[in-house]
Amino acid sequence: MLRTPAERQKLTMSERLYYQNSFLTTFAATVSDIREVARGEGESLWQVALDRTAFYPESGGQPCDTGVLSATSRGGAELDVAVESVEENEHGEVWHLVRKPLAAGTHVEGQIDWERRFDHMQQHTGQHLLSAVFLRELQAQTVSFHLGESISTIDLACGPLAQHSLERVERLANEIIAEDRPVTLRQIERAEAEAMLASGELRKLPERNGKIRLIEIADCDRNACGGTHVRSTGQIGGLLVRGVEKVSRGVRVEFVCGLRAVKTARADAATLSKATAALSVGAADLPAAVERLISEAKTNAKERQRLREELAAYHAARLAVEVPIANGLRLVMRSWKDRDRDYVKLLASRTAATSAETVAIFCAEEADPTRVVVARSMDLDFDCGRLLREALTELGLRGGGSPDLAQGEVPARLAPGLCTSLAESIRQTVGARATQASQRDEDAIRRRIP
Ligand SMILES: [Zn+2]
Repeated sequence: MLRTPAERQKLTMSERLYYQNSFLTTFAATVSDIREVARGEGESLWQVALDRTAFYPESGGQPCDTGVLSATSRGGAELDVAVESVEENEHGEVWHLVRKPLAAGTHVEGQIDWERRFDHMQQHTGQHLLSAVFLRELQAQTVSFHLGESISTIDLACGPLAQHSLERVERLANEIIAEDRPVTLRQIERAEAEAMLASGELRKLPERNGKIRLIEIADCDRNACGGTHVRSTGQIGGLLVRGVEKVSRGVRVEFVCGLRAVKTARADAATLSKATAALSVGAADLPAAVERLISEAKTNAKERQRLREELAAYHAARLAVEVPIANGLRLVMRSWKDRDRDYVKLLASRTAATSAETVAIFCAEEADPTRVVVARSMDLDFDCGRLLREALTELGLRGGGSPDLAQGEVPARLAPGLCTSLAESIRQTVGARATQASQRDEDAIRRRIP
């Protein structure tokens, strides 16, 4: 059946039962529309609209509800369909995501996942309370908030917060929770809400038309809000501020409420307990123990580097002695499987520095690709960087460096061939220069002969 967009919207606009009663967990409804939203691997995803729903769609910083829609077929078979997510679109339609189709006109019984919903209600009402106390105590306005699956945050427009200020806000919020103040709901006309906004009784108003839903925490806060809330502050169950970080617009405060605060504290305690066991210290001594470890690690790293430098110097001297000078060149070629790349590079540079007319072509084979390093002593004048770059370019690879030290990476199977060809180029270059030099010397001698 083809419908005009207006007819379709009228059909899919559902009565939102949670607006009046956030504690409603089951309800009866009729499927008003269904649409297929994705298909693949023998399964389809569907969205169904209901004439009325207690499922909260993800909006206003609060995650959606999940749950079940149950239907009975004409033959009497019971069908339970999981609602995996719920969303609303810009027309205010609420769509329930399911993996089994439910035809329009089907009568269903909806059941929301209460544990999840109540947790969201605690975090959400806790956010109203925390924002109100930050505003009252520190004149810090909440500019946005996010209720996540595990943590919740509010962003405040303010400068850095002192630890004692944070603790005071947390204590005051928990005092209001302990006082169990009523959290009430009332609907007012938009004109009245606009008058409240003008007089400062309301801080913000949603842009949409129609009646405005006001949520009030007695003697504490008043907000225009479409979310789900607990009935009294006592049901928030407790509020824990877990951390603060600087963000571009101000400060982000992480908090948890109710049973989630208990679960988070338990997880934190487990993490702490693992760390204290690993370091064999009490919880109070953990920060000092970690600082000591960091300091020791820094000292050890410095000492290790000093020893590597010293080792490389001895190692280089031994390598240079092993290879005699031939045709004006001491060409040392080695490769290691058990030395890291940084050490091999250091060793190449130290070997080239041991004496004149010396070149090192070293390979670190600890991983594939192999790292190839070429280094030369300062008296030689060919360009290591250019030589290696040209050789690698021929293989379709990249690498290079300075005239006296260059490095590149090459697949392990190509490394021996590359090193041989580098050695050959270097011998030719150095050999040709030596010939030119001796020719120049001879010419000079001849010119001096009278
Ligand atoms: Zn709210």
